[in-house]
Amino acid sequence: MTTEAFVKTRWISRVETAKLIRAKLKQEYPGVKFSVRCARGSATYVNWTDGPTSAQVRATVDEFESDGFDGMQDLRYTREDNVALVANEDGTLERVRYLSGLILEQRNVSEEWARELRDEIEEFNGEAIDWLDHGASIEIAAFRLNFHGTPPGTGLARDSGGGGGCNYAQSLIWQLAAGRDRSRPCDHGLGTYGVGNGWHRCAGCGLRCQTP
Ligand SMILES: [Zn+2]
Repeated sequence: MTTEAFVKTRWISRVETAKLIRAKLKQEYPGVKFSVRCARGSATYVNWTDGPTSAQVRATVDEFESDGFDGMQDLRYTREDNVALVANEDGTLERVRYLSGLILEQRNVSEEWARELRDEIEEFNGEAIDWLDHGASIEIAAFRLNFHGTPPGTGLARDSGGGGGCNYAQSLIWQLAAGRDRSRPCDHGLGTYGVGNGWHRCAGCGLRCQTP
């Protein structure tokens, strides 16, 4: 007989887990407003605007995720890696299981930031772009992007597709936003890249400056 058999499991309810997620997010990203909702069908939704990157939030909330999803098999499974074994003061062990289900994090880009990113994309392009402006949802009216190389740290690359391009600007904005942490001031330590006419931009936050 193993001691495993005597280890009791403590279940942390979905509501309680959502509270813990909220508290941890608040601690790691003070000043950023998060919405943490547990929904029917066993999922927890985390939404926020600008702030940290999705990768950062994933790293923060991952320990609370109880389920995983295998897209290849279309199968949900229990994340055994997130079953914490804790020692109580009396020496007994307890298994802690959070009932979050899948945690689905979604970052939104504010209209203000989308406009800044749009300006950067136009600069990469080196010539004016026809935009269809619907606030945060921006489309390219005329598809003629001509990036000269890929600005460092942006992940931006020119799409070779000729036609369509209707939502393409939006996806470029997402690509540009994806690697940028807006939850704290940038230390401009990632270097700059030239954008023409003696101007440079910070590879970390996109700030325009005249010195490299
Ligand atoms: Zn910067």
